[in-house]
Amino acid sequence: MNDRLVIAIDGPSGSGKSTTSKGVARALGLAYLDTGAMYRAIACAYLDAGVDPSDTAGVIAATLGAKLEVSTDPDVEKILVNGTDVTERIRSQEISTKVSAVSTVPECRADLVARQRAIIDAAPNGIIAEGRDITTVVAPDADVRLLLTADPEIRMARRKRDLGGAIDASSLADQVLRRDRDDSKLVNFTTAADGVTHLDCTELSLEETIQAVLDLVAATRG
Ligand code: C5P
Repeated sequence: MNDRLVIAIDGPSGSGKSTTSKGVARALGLAYLDTGAMYRAIACAYLDAGVDPSDTAGVIAATLGAKLEVSTDPDVEKILVNGTDVTERIRSQEISTKVSAVSTVPECRADLVARQRAIIDAAPNGIIAEGRDITTVVAPDADVRLLLTADPEIRMARRKRDLGGAIDASSLADQVLRRDRDDSKLVNFTTAADGVTHLDCTELSLEETIQAVLDLVAATRG
């Protein structure tokens, strides 16, 4: 069958990638891959191995040796690393702060990118994958490629709402602005690469954003 569909979404923290991607996956009957959850789960693995974030060799070893099991059902949020369920833990402030020790190391990225490609290739009906480097590195051949952005104030407000409001201003700025600054040293997710559609959802509701992606898919498929 050639109606298998792969959709790739990049964008900065808090742009709504996850929520939008899940909505699109449900509407189209696709699998869903949160690649950020994989980086976060690896952060749990190196911390559990007693590795310091500054010990790059240790972080690489923990990454290459980690067994990852990630749900690709948009209605089931679940991720296990080395047999332990870390679904809730990966959203903690500690992991948000320490994940950069994984994502800034090229060897770790190469390993995770290979795992992500294998998951994308294995989805029978297709998949929507989101992260920082999906349109450019992980799935540059995806049928639909989209860069989802929003103004920083909106992204911080959304992240705060996602966390139930329980975060102070400096932690929020760390989670959104500092992380984007660090991440953008390795991957470009602020401007759309060739063939990538830019959707700014600053002024759009979630429903409108999902609909815009569905319209783009329909236009691409003709
Ligand atoms: O998307 P999320 O905020 O959960 O991602 C957590 C971290 O994982 C990001 O800050 C980034 O460092 C890293 N990441 C990445 N490439 C991806 C997805 C996430 O570098 N494709």
